[in-house]
Amino acid sequence: MIRFTSLGSGSEGNALLIEAGGPHGTRLMIDCGLPVRQALARIEARGVDPRGLDAILVTHEHGDHIGGVMALARKTGATVCLTRGTHAALHTRSAEACNGVTLRLIDSHEPFELGCVEIRPFPVPHDAREPVQYVVACGAISLGVLTDLGMLTPHVERSLQDCDGLVLEFNHDPDLLAQSTYPHSLKLRISGRYGHLCNRDAASFLAGLNLDRLQHVVAAHLSQSNNSPEHVLAAVREVLGEVPEAFYLATQADGFDWLTIEPLQA
Ligand SMILES: [Zn+2]
Ligand SMILES: [Zn+2]
Repeated sequence: MIRFTSLGSGSEGNALLIEAGGPHGTRLMIDCGLPVRQALARIEARGVDPRGLDAILVTHEHGDHIGGVMALARKTGATVCLTRGTHAALHTRSAEACNGVTLRLIDSHEPFELGCVEIRPFPVPHDAREPVQYVVACGAISLGVLTDLGMLTPHVERSLQDCDGLVLEFNHDPDLLAQSTYPHSLKLRISGRYGHLCNRDAASFLAGLNLDRLQHVVAAHLSQSNNSPEHVLAAVREVLGEVPEAFYLATQADGFDWLTIEPLQA
């Protein structure tokens, strides 16, 4: 069994809490871009003791993903897993950033074990030093996470085939972005090949997956200025014909509540 919940999702801060193999199994976070006090309070609000956190997997060095990681690791004793590129970027910013934290440097193509789960990182096109996203597998079931990428690649698509749960970036609506008051350079960055995934691309990606197998799909990292739940749902409807039953939207203020991936039926 895998269950997962977000403590917040969007450019103000991301944090995804995952529990695999029951309450005595393995407890992970993917990213923590929230201030540590807020992160601790939100973990407790989800009914979990933060001291039971085994590891924090980092996707990349942007503040909305890494801002609270090291402080949370110091508070909880969790091991921080990150690529060499992310570590180097962090170190360039501050030589003391990782003091007092147990680090595990990972290869962006190499699966590794953590407690009772297998973590499968894969690289994504995004304007960071060595960004990755993750599949977290527990026995035969797996949860895929895909945010912060400018475009889909065959490798990304292959990496997320056959997931049972998916957290997927629906960052912006291209028309809203084009009409926004954002500076031209920022518009180019967001819509570029190393920026963020627009609603239509996310919906098309979803259409290529095995939807019968997906127990939950969560639209995440929505832009607060250049997107809305209505725009996301309209894009999904346009591409898929209808919105899948188990389709949810993550918010910046409260992420989303626990979702459980059940073991596959024999
Ligand atoms: Zn981000
Ligand atoms: Zn980013």
